[in-house]
Amino acid sequence: MIPMVDLQAQYASIKEEIDTAVLGVLASGRFALGPEVAAFETEFATYCGTSHAVAVSSGTSALHLALLAAGVGPGDEVITVPYTFVATVAAIRYTGATPVFVDIEPHGCTMEVAQVANAITPRTKAIVPVHLYGQAADLDPLQTLAREHGLVLVEDAAQAHGAEYRGRPVGGLGDLGCFSFYPGKNLGAYGEGGIVVTNDGTHAEAIRSLRSWGEDQRYHHARQGFNYRMDAIQGAVLRVKLRHLPAWNDARRRIAATYDRLLQDTGVTTPTVLAHGTHVYHLYAVRTWRRDALHDALETAGIHSGLHYPVPVHLQPAHADLGGGVGDFPVAEAAARSTLTVPIYPELPDGVPEQVAEVVRRTLAA
Ligand SMILES: *Cc1c(COP(=O)(O)O)cnc(C)c1O
Repeated sequence: MIPMVDLQAQYASIKEEIDTAVLGVLASGRFALGPEVAAFETEFATYCGTSHAVAVSSGTSALHLALLAAGVGPGDEVITVPYTFVATVAAIRYTGATPVFVDIEPHGCTMEVAQVANAITPRTKAIVPVHLYGQAADLDPLQTLAREHGLVLVEDAAQAHGAEYRGRPVGGLGDLGCFSFYPGKNLGAYGEGGIVVTNDGTHAEAIRSLRSWGEDQRYHHARQGFNYRMDAIQGAVLRVKLRHLPAWNDARRRIAATYDRLLQDTGVTTPTVLAHGTHVYHLYAVRTWRRDALHDALETAGIHSGLHYPVPVHLQPAHADLGGGVGDFPVAEAAARSTLTVPIYPELPDGVPEQVAEVVRRTLAA
C-alpha cells in the first residue's frame, strides 16, 4: 500500500543526525524541557519571525494555553470554523468559553471572513482562524476586525508550518500562533509536541508558567497550571528536523504541482492556492461528488487516501450541546461530503501521482 505519510522513509533520510541528537539527550539525563527545548524555541521563533516561542506537549495544549494567556474563560465566546480537526474546538471549550462557528469559504476552505462581523457579540473575546491543509486564512481583515472590537487573534497553524501570508510566515501574524508537532504534521516530533509563538512577552511568560504547574519559581505556584511541558527528546528531534523543513515544504510543493498537472480534466477539483499566500500542502485535498467511489477505487489500487474531515465539528455528537444542526454551515458540510486527500509527503515515491491520476481518470469516467 502507498501510505498517506511515510515516517520510516523520513527517518532513514536523517537517521545519523537524529540518532546523535537523541543519544545526546539520553546521556544528558535531562528529559523534560532543558537546553534542547530552549534552543528549539529560539530557532522556531526565528523561523516564524516572532520574539518568543514557548514549547508545549501538543498542538492542543498550545491552543489551550494561548487562549488562557489571552484571558479567554467562562462566559466568553470564541469565533472559529466547524471545518477543522476537532482539537481547535476542544481547546476553546477547555477554557470554559463557548465556540461560535462561522462557515468556511469554498476555495481554500478557510474562515469566511465576511461572516465574522455578524458573529461578534459583546461576549466575543477571540477569533481562531485555521490555516487548513497548509495555507493561511485571510488574516488582514481578521486583524482589522480584532482591533476594532478589542479581540485577540489566535492562529491555529497546526497544519501550516512555513506557509506564508503576504510574504510573512504564519503563526506570528496574529496575537498568538499555535503549532502542532504531531508526527504526521509537516514538522513532526517522534511523539507529541506543540508550540505557541508570539511577540507579546507577557503572553509568553504566562504560557511558560501555565505549561509547568503555574510555577513562578520552583514549588511556588502563582496560578493553577498544567503539565504541558515538551520532552527534551522532542526538542532535540525538532531542532534537527526544522533544518530540513524548508526543503521538505519545497518537495511537497513540487509534488502538488505534479498532481495539479496530472489531475487536470479528470473530473476532480484540485486545490486552489489563495492569492494572499503560499501553500505548504500538509494535505493535498481534491473535491468530487463521487468521493466515496474514488476513495474505494484508490484503496483497491493499493493507495491510501483520507477523509479530512468527514463530519464538521458542529455535527459531531461530542459538541451537540452547542446546538448545531444540518444546514447551518452549508459550505463546510459540502466540503465534508466531497473532499478526499491523497498521499503527499517529501519522500513520496516517483510515479505515485501518475498512479493516482490513472485511478481518478478511470473511476470518474465510469
Ligand atoms: C493536529 C491539529 C491540532 C491538534 O494538534 P495535536 O498536536 O494533535 O494536539 C489542532 N488543530 C489542527 C487544525 C490540527 O490539524
